[in-house]
Amino acid sequence: MKQLLRKVFLADLIEGLRVTFRHQHPKQIVTEQYPFERPKIGERYRGAPRLNINPENGETLCICCDLCALACPEHLIVVGWERNPETKKKQLVTFTYDISRCMFCGLCEDACPVDALELTQDFEMASYTREGAILDRQTLENGLLPARYRY
Ligand code: SF4
Ligand code: SF4
Repeated sequence: MKQLLRKVFLADLIEGLRVTFRHQHPKQIVTEQYPFERPKIGERYRGAPRLNINPENGETLCICCDLCALACPEHLIVVGWERNPETKKKQLVTFTYDISRCMFCGLCEDACPVDALELTQDFEMASYTREGAILDRQTLENGLLPARYRY
């Protein structure tokens, strides 16, 4: 009988609504208003890759040693280089990084002996195509442009 009365008078529904409305105070809302408010990123977060350049002369720091590509368990980094006939040094020509396969483990970053490759705190890496996830040297050097939204 008690169960029947609970059903007739929607006691469970009212109880649920009571719990819901008890937690509606604005102080208790924890939803981040992204993208209008930028979230705080953890210090050790590893995001979009960047290929660093020397700020003094604008040249790449990469010495084409290929260690990042060898360290990557997904084999998603391809370093293209050629030897300068005059200096006999390797020169970086292309550098591709497929973020669609990247698990952001940081092994490539750790392997780089000259801190040329860095995983930044940028987290907005979405693209509409698979091709858009393959970053070339220019994109890696300039860095992905984070989206800025307005009200
Ligand atoms: S973060 Fe890991 S998976 Fe991504 S490119 Fe570097 S080594 Fe490969
Ligand atoms: S490990 Fe560093 S220096 Fe070597 S190829 Fe990769 S980014 Fe360039």
